[in-house]
Amino acid sequence: MDKQELITAFTKIYTTQPSAEYFSPGRINLIGEHTDYNGGHVFPCAISLGIWGAAAKRSDRKLHFYSGNFTELGVIEADLDSLEYVEADSWANYAKGMIKFIQAAGYKIDNGLDIYINGNIPNGSGLSSSAALEMLIGLIVDDQFDLNIKRLDLIKLGMKTENEFIGVNSGIMDQFAVGMGQKDHALLLDTNTLDYKVAPLDLKGDVIIIMNTNKRRELADSKYNERRAECEKALSELQTRLDISSLGELDAATFDEYSYLIDDEDRFKRARHAVLENERTLRAEKLLQDGKLEEFGRLVNASHVSLQHDYEVTGKELDTLVHTAWKQPGVLGARMTGAGFGGCAIALVAKDKVADFEKEVGARYTEVIGYAPSFYEAEISDGTKVL
Ligand code: ADP
Ligand code: MG
Repeated sequence: MDKQELITAFTKIYTTQPSAEYFSPGRINLIGEHTDYNGGHVFPCAISLGIWGAAAKRSDRKLHFYSGNFTELGVIEADLDSLEYVEADSWANYAKGMIKFIQAAGYKIDNGLDIYINGNIPNGSGLSSSAALEMLIGLIVDDQFDLNIKRLDLIKLGMKTENEFIGVNSGIMDQFAVGMGQKDHALLLDTNTLDYKVAPLDLKGDVIIIMNTNKRRELADSKYNERRAECEKALSELQTRLDISSLGELDAATFDEYSYLIDDEDRFKRARHAVLENERTLRAEKLLQDGKLEEFGRLVNASHVSLQHDYEVTGKELDTLVHTAWKQPGVLGARMTGAGFGGCAIALVAKDKVADFEKEVGARYTEVIGYAPSFYEAEISDGTKVL
């Protein structure tokens, strides 16, 4: 949406003008999956699919939220002084959580707000519309009240909202990618130290195609928490002989020497993924910088293989998309992206092969799964910003 469309839409709902307009992107992760809560590295970037917002201060202490994607809910009202999770408030809980935690961090918010949002990230498909929403609301509040919240603090408040207000036990990757993204760059983040590097993303003649399984993630949150628990248990078994605080601190050789301590096949496989995926991510970033795109693509494939067989978070839909993508001409690599169990995958495809790629992969997927996938070309975009 452009600014004028936002102003028109806001004015239609609230009958006053907004004072500023905002954008917050979704994200894809190139490689480094399920490593962010294991103290490993991730390598995501922000995309041009996102959520746009417009806002104006009110004279009272009420908060009004309206989403153009949930028009049936109308304006959802809340009060600055009593922000609790209420099931019926649906998506506005993300906004309420963010504002509650900004206040709890010591920032003073003097007035209520009218907020209008509208986006084009498919919800619940692993492109992190929830982090886009949290960071959008965070920036609106920061900007409207001149709070000067450091971007990294806003990112941490977004994660806190997801973990403690919504109840999804996710790591910091999503809010970080959304909040720190830069056009045509990817972010190599060490989730142990929060050190990061902004790396130019030059794919030469290739583009990133996002492939949506259009399968709603079922049981995703409980499975996610189960994987976290398995990794924590494996870590505690390794800690009986190793002085480490996360799986991300281990290289493959050390893991190999001490893996005998893990007393369960599933836990061994989960930990092996966490360790090898972290190494793979570091190697992949270097290969990309050296312009070695074919090797980079093979590591992207290896990431999927590990997520399929060791971490077991892919499922028939993602595997069908990715395995079919591997067989197409002009494809450097493909893997699931995000938490898995449905949602989206990405493929690196030569520009002039994209049309054939989508036709072939779309047809095969529809034949096997019974409904069609969707495709979007990912443009790598800036993070959450004032327009
Ligand atoms: P993901 O982050 O993978 O897209 P989640 O289940 O974590 O999936 O978050 C999706 C939820 O975020 C939606 O159900 C909705 O509550 C909220 N949300 C996302 N985009 C919007 C939007 N444009 N307007 C209102 N709420 C949104
Ligand atoms: Mg989410």
